Amino acid sequence: MRLGVMGGTFDPIHHGHLVAASEVQSLLDLDEVVFVPTGQPWQKAGREVSPAEHRYLMTVIATASNPRFSVSRVDIDRPGPTYTLDTLRDLHEQRPDAELFFITGADALAQILSWKGVEELWDLATFIGVTRPGHELSKTGLPQDRVILQEVPAMAISSTDCRNRVVAGEPVWYLVPDGVVQYIGKYQLYRPGAGVLQDET
Ligand code: ATP
Ligand code: MG
Repeated sequence: MRLGVMGGTFDPIHHGHLVAASEVQSLLDLDEVVFVPTGQPWQKAGREVSPAEHRYLMTVIATASNPRFSVSRVDIDRPGPTYTLDTLRDLHEQRPDAELFFITGADALAQILSWKGVEELWDLATFIGVTRPGHELSKTGLPQDRVILQEVPAMAISSTDCRNRVVAGEPVWYLVPDGVVQYIGKYQLYRPGAGVLQDET
């Protein structure tokens, strides 16, 4: 079986993530794409990331209607910072028969050589680098046979922009799925002093 892996902070998940995953699923004939929300992302140690349960649930809401999409808790249930090396090792262990395809935007692909255990990464998965507005997609310095570059519909959306919009009272309708708009409102995410799940009644 051919298994796509879409890793991300998903704070919040938006239509850029969903279109990229859908397009790669179709073009590479993947049986399934598993979305993997990070635990504490090591690249984002400087900023406050929403609690993992919120990010996980928004990812579940956003992907629930697609029969080829699923969500994994491997990264949020593993203590400590999230490294893609551990993500792929754990998924490989859980599903030894699956061939893994790790989907990543152009910005993240450009960082990959700085990731922990990069040499082993190439053995664990094929990397699918997808286009992202504002970022150059390139294989420079990467093993040519382990990386595939794929154009996807251009969605100039980032989670950072979505969060800033919420802070400013601007709409995120149509940037994120409807259920995610409602979830953000329900739990007052991205507003100063936003509560954690357990505090809500
Ligand atoms: P943030 O602004 O918080 O960094 P983000 O929008 O970059 O959020 P991430 O969760 O960091 O989202 O990204 C997860 C993965 O999805 C990364 O590989 C990233 O490159 C890719 N990605 C995010 N947004 C897009 C987009 N609009 N088009 C294509 N790929 C995207
Ligand atoms: Mg990002």
